[in-house]
Amino acid sequence: MGGGGTPDGLIRVLLAESARDAIAAHVAEDTTVESGGVLVGEILAGAVRVVGAIPARQAAGAATSLTFTHEAWDEVNSVLEADWSDARMVGWYHSHPGFGIFLSDYDQFIQSNFFSEPWQVSRATRISP
Ligand SMILES: [Zn+2]
Repeated sequence: MGGGGTPDGLIRVLLAESARDAIAAHVAEDTTVESGGVLVGEILAGAVRVVGAIPARQAAGAATSLTFTHEAWDEVNSVLEADWSDARMVGWYHSHPGFGIFLSDYDQFIQSNFFSEPWQVSRATRISP
């Protein structure tokens, strides 16, 4: 499957309402630490469609970081296999409790180590504690 990009090299991200709602509900559970998970969906020509989100409840959330532990990956992969067998892991999401939307150095580490395919995307959501 050639994901392909647009002529300007950008990939459009289409976020289904159900996925947006799932992310919002998960990150609202605890607004004192970062929380997050993976995005599932499909790759189109020049775009990624995000159709769902899998919360990584075993991830270690701190005030300004989120660590995907082995337990978190086990959890995410088993949900992916059980509930999303037709979809792929197209990226990840996480919350920034009370601070702005950007990718920190550590976020960029996660992105380049675990979600390095050109079609894998990241969503940071600002929440107010
Ligand atoms: Zn972050």
